[in-house]
Amino acid sequence: MDEAALLQLWEAALPLPPQRREQLLAQAAGAPRAATIGQANAALLALRAQLFGARLGLQAACPACAASLEFELDARSLGHAAPGAQAAEHELRVGHETVRLRAPRLADLQALPSDDAAALARALFERCVIAAERDGRPCAAAELSEPVRAQAAQRLEAADPLANLQFALHCPDCGHAFDATLDIAALTWAELRHHAERLLADIAALADAYGWCEAEVLALSPLRRAAYLQLAAAAA
Ligand SMILES: [Zn+2]
Repeated sequence: MDEAALLQLWEAALPLPPQRREQLLAQAAGAPRAATIGQANAALLALRAQLFGARLGLQAACPACAASLEFELDARSLGHAAPGAQAAEHELRVGHETVRLRAPRLADLQALPSDDAAALARALFERCVIAAERDGRPCAAAELSEPVRAQAAQRLEAADPLANLQFALHCPDCGHAFDATLDIAALTWAELRHHAERLLADIAALADAYGWCEAEVLALSPLRRAAYLQLAAAAA
């Protein structure tokens, strides 16, 4: 992705609500429309690595002592998305219940409430159920018991491993061990936004100093642009 395309993506994504923005970024990263959440995350990780490098600088707060932890992660260590996850159907039998379901897709999240995590997880599960049976008779997804929901969640996690970007952390202050989650869409957006805003500031400074237009500034190599910025700053 070149800088003109990056600015176009920033402009298109800026006014969108977070879930639609995530969908737009994932599609710009090459994820298909029906991508599972894991496949969308994989595309976002690849886009982020292409734009800003594979090393992720992250922060997390220790849930036990509230210490702020800073750490680095190599995006390549998170693994790859399962190629067939999008189309795969899974069938499970637990006791007298049977359920057939698919992995959650990024598009599912757009149709669901995002304020309450427990309600979201429940609604997402029910959306992904293709068919359910209890005692040999069809039943609604909402009627399925906790054990079958828990096993279905495990099965889907294994089928679409990048859907949940979790990693284990250890607090150096208090010794507490905990799992932290990486929101790759939010991180990619924050970095892309920061980068676009810096680029616009450079364009404005060079337009001001030399009367160049946006396309002329973007046509300069980053090195030459930095040199002109220095000259403009020295002359001011
Ligand atoms: Zn701690």
